Formats: sequence, structure tokens, C-alpha cells
Amino acid sequence: MTNNRYDVIIIGTGAGGGTLAYHLAPSGKRILILERGDYVPREKANWDPQVVNVDAHYNAKESWLDKDGKDLHPHTNYYVGGNTKFYGAALFRLRKEDFGELRHRGGISPAWPLGYDDLEPYYTQAENLYQVHGNRGEDPTEPPANSPYPWPAVSHEPRIQQLSDDFARSGLKPFHVPVGVMLDEKNPHKSRCIRCNTCDGFACLVGAKSDAQVVCIDEAIKHSNVTLLTNSLVKRLETDSSGRQVKGVVVERGGSLETYSADVVVVSCGAINSAALLLRSANDKHPGGLANSSDVVGRHYMGHTNSVMMAISKCPNPTIFQKTLGVNDFYFGSKDFEYPMGHISFVGKLDAITLKAGAPAIAPNFTLELMAKHSLDFWLTSEDLPDPNNRVTIDRDGKIVLEYTPNNLEAHERLQGKLKQAMKQTNCAMHGHECHQGLFGRNLYVGQRIPLAGVAHQNGTIRFGHDPKTSALDVNCKAHEVDNLYVVDGSFFPSSAAVNPALTIMANALRVGDHLMKRLGVSETAYERNRQQDGELAVSR
Ligand SMILES: Cc1cc2nc3c(=O)[nH]c(=O)nc-3n(C[C@H](O)[C@H](O)[C@H](O)COP(=O)(O)OP(=O)(O)OC[C@H]3O[C@@H](n4cnc5c(N)ncnc54)[C@H](O)[C@@H]3O)c2cc1C
Ligand code: SF4
Repeated sequence: MTNNRYDVIIIGTGAGGGTLAYHLAPSGKRILILERGDYVPREKANWDPQVVNVDAHYNAKESWLDKDGKDLHPHTNYYVGGNTKFYGAALFRLRKEDFGELRHRGGISPAWPLGYDDLEPYYTQAENLYQVHGNRGEDPTEPPANSPYPWPAVSHEPRIQQLSDDFARSGLKPFHVPVGVMLDEKNPHKSRCIRCNTCDGFACLVGAKSDAQVVCIDEAIKHSNVTLLTNSLVKRLETDSSGRQVKGVVVERGGSLETYSADVVVVSCGAINSAALLLRSANDKHPGGLANSSDVVGRHYMGHTNSVMMAISKCPNPTIFQKTLGVNDFYFGSKDFEYPMGHISFVGKLDAITLKAGAPAIAPNFTLELMAKHSLDFWLTSEDLPDPNNRVTIDRDGKIVLEYTPNNLEAHERLQGKLKQAMKQTNCAMHGHECHQGLFGRNLYVGQRIPLAGVAHQNGTIRFGHDPKTSALDVNCKAHEVDNLYVVDGSFFPSSAAVNPALTIMANALRVGDHLMKRLGVSETAYERNRQQDGELAVSR
């Protein structure tokens, strides 16, 4: 065995790769984790809205192309922990119905090759691992769960509680959003999370967000059999002459190329970069891209139809941690629209500096500062449907090209309409119905929707399924055509549903991890022993 030979190589440290690395670490197998980025530097700027939202300091410094060949600056992050370093940590299970076929106004959302019940135990594990805070039984669309959330829900601050009460009075069923922050409200003096206003979109300066670095990678590398190489960009995968085995992972590191190999190679670069990596790895056995004789690799790109809507009230909104309230009453439709519309919740509290970067239409008699002080900042998500023409390709130089035509838009417009209606029914003690001044979309977003560069919820580009003609991965997320190649990021989704994707990516990574442990012949006893021994060793090191 040479130094470059491992049992498992995992490429990418985000929700998928990070979670898998954590799960496999106690297996005793030699594991190499390759990450193109570095650690997010810990600095005060982590929490500075100007640096983060206006200067886009932590965004990936590369450009892609859109379908017209114009430069696209993706809002994505290449760091240890991937996009979870910056995520809002709203950790939702998909709805049970999302795993079946669903009829939308814009077409069909296809069924998954496994059912909710197959993933349920892994959702529970993922919620425990990522310390999700929530209350079962409030969300009317919530799927059945075998255990409560590991932590109580993050409480609403007074303005959000008032809104929740208003919504409930008007017949809605508002609920506490499940979030992965290490907040202990009962023991605030001991709480790692300080409940600040720079969480969603920011890296956590005090390491209290349940992201894939803090929760998974930091723990995984305590095991002596696990190696992490940062600043290591995987350029392509090489196969043996049969084309059935990945035999080389070619990495650009410190200005030169190195090749690593493993019995099992797991790609988890995010749905766009993973598809691009397979396409760049074309060879004579895989002329259309690795594992792509179905021609689905890169196709069916989805990223949700998302928008940020600011509801301006006469009453101020001094909320610090705003992402606590959700409304799913319209998720599957309503009496006047029988198709799914989607999910309503919040972004982190917007401030005037952030608003300047994408000034909304100004409400009459308001300045941006006043608007920021008085706004409730909603996040709306609707499902986009898998269209084969929405796709990731690479140009002659290997640069990513992202083509996307939005679909199923009526669902989103209807959802915005429902929110408008719900806000009109709010009734504050001081101003009555007159308190609500209107809904304003952030103009940064063309037509009030998040633009193409907003690839936060990317998924679907290497779909899993039973049929090798219509999917690239089998039900274990192994490539149909390559015996030792797996993909565990958001690529595997056959449909995008309308809740945030990260918990499903994490749960699936744990599921695939169990499959890999069987494949690698890891005994449960050895796994448990290593988990305890290596954990103890790491503490004394
Ligand atoms: C601002 C923001 C807020 C969000 N909020 C939420 C939320 O509240 N809830 C939720 O569920 N989701 C949220 N998301 C989305 C969530 O972060 C993603 O769904 C999730 O991180 C995707 O996981 P992944 O494993 O597919 O990819 P990623 O987390 O993107 O990880 C991919 C990793 O691969 C690395 N990589 C890429 N290419 C290569 C290569 N060639 N070689 C080596 N390494 C490579 C990247 O650097 C990265 O570390 C948010 C995202 C953003 C940006
Ligand atoms: S709210 Fe908590 S977890 Fe989020 S950034 Fe602030 S301290 Fe970190």
C-alpha cells in the first residue's frame, strides 16, 4: 500500500461529505477527505453585514457562465463545512408525500426510489447529530417521527410571537422552525450560542451553529485513521481500462497535481460541482462524462423558486434571531388552488447595510433604515420541477455553464398572494389592521425572485433511481456504471420538494454510510469500540 492509497476517499466537506466522514470515521478504515477550500478564517468580519453581504468577501471567487454565455458569480462558498458554514440551519424533513409523485400546476414532481419510512431513522440520527431545536406536532404537514426533537424549539421573540398569534387567530397553523443552533435557553450562561442577529448567511464566529465543520469534520479528524487535506481541488476522476472502477483521483494541491486512489470514492462537491466533476472526467469508456451513458448527469438542475418579501409595519420589529416561525398551510394547496404552493418562513433579520446592496422599493414615508427597523423579512420557497433542459454543462475550458428556465411559477405567485392576504389580517393592539403597510420584494432579486446566481438550494443533477436509463445513481447512491463511485451531496434528489434541503442530504449521507460500512465489512462491535477509544484518545491528545 502506498501513502496515496486509502480505503475511502470523500471529496467535499459540506452537508453530504462532512456527515459521511463523521459517520465512517470510527470504522477504522483509512479515510482521506479532500476539500478545495480552507477553514473559514475566524475574524470579527465573520459577523459584519458589510463584509459578508455587500462585499461578498466569503463567496467563491470564480465565475461560471449562464446560457447566454454571460458571467455568473455564484453565491456559493468553498470552505471546510461547505455551504453549511453560512446556512441558516433551518433543518426540515421532507414531507412524507414529497417521496411520492405529486401533481403541480406546472407538471409532475416525480416519486423517489425510496419512501419516507426508509429515511425516517436517518432523519432522527441527523437531527440528533445536528442538535435540531423544534417542537413536534405544530407543523400541519410534518411527517411522522419516531422520537421528539433532541432540543426544545428556539422561542419566538415578542414581535414574532405577536405575528404567530395573529396568524393563529386567522386560522393558520404557524409553527416553530426546526433549527440547528447550539442554544440553551434554560441555561443562557452556559449556552454556546448567544442568539445573535448574524446567523443566516454568516459563519458563526463562536462555533455555535451546527454546521458540517463543527459537528462533523472536527470530530471525524480526531480519529487517527482520518486525514483531511484542505486547499485540494479535485480536477478529475480516472477509471481503469474497463471503465468500471475509479482508480485515480487527480488533485491540484499547492500548485501541482497529485493522484490518490481508494476502494471507494465518494463525490460530494455540491450538486453543481459534482456534476461538473463527472463531466470533466469523460474518457473513452465514458465519452459523455463519467457514469453518464443515461445522459442525465448535469440535467434536472433544481434550486427552488425562492423570494424574500419584507412586510412593513407601523410597529417596529426589534427581533434579533428572526428565523423561528414557519407556515406550511399552503404547502399542498388550498381550497382555491388545488396544487402545492410551498413554504413560508423567515430569513435572518435584514439590516439597512444589507438592504443597500439590493434596495427594495421604498415604502411611502420610510427610509431604508426605517424599513429595516420595521420589516418582517419572509422567505418563501416553492418547488421547481426537474426539467432536463435545466442543466449544468462545461465549456471547452472546463468552466461551469448553468442553464435554467424557471418553471411552476404560478405556485410561487399564489404563495406570495397567500402571504399578502395573511398579513392584511394582522391586527395590532395599537394600530389595528392599519399597522401593516404592505409587502415589498428585495429588488436585488429580478422580479422579486432569487436570481440564477443564488444556487444555495442546488440539487438534482445526478439523480438516483432504479432505472439506469433515467438515473445515474442506484438507490444506494452508487453510480450504476462504476462499481466504486458514490455521490452523497444534493445531486441525488429526483425532485426538490419545497423545504430546505440540508437535513435530507445529511440523513441520506448517514444512510449511504451504513451501506458503505457493510460493503467495507466493518463489524458493529469494532465500530463501537473505535468510536469510544478514538474519542477518548482524542480528548487526551
Ligand atoms: C446563505 C445560505 C443559507 C442556507 N440556509 C439553509 C437552511 O437554512 N437550511 C437548509 O437546509 N439549507 C440551507 N442552505 C443550503 C445548504 O447549505 C445546502 O443545501 C447544503 O450545504 C448542500 O450540501 P452539499 O453537501 O450538497 O454541498 P456543500 O455544502 O456545498 O459542500 C460541497 C463541498 O465540496 C467542496 N468542493 C466543491 N468542488 C470541489 C472539488 N472539485 N474538489 C474538492 N472539493 C470540492 C466545496 O468547497 C464544499 O465544501 C443555505 C445555503 C446558503 C448558501
Ligand atoms: S445565532 Fe448562535 S449559532 Fe447563529 S451565529 Fe449567532 S451565536 Fe452563532
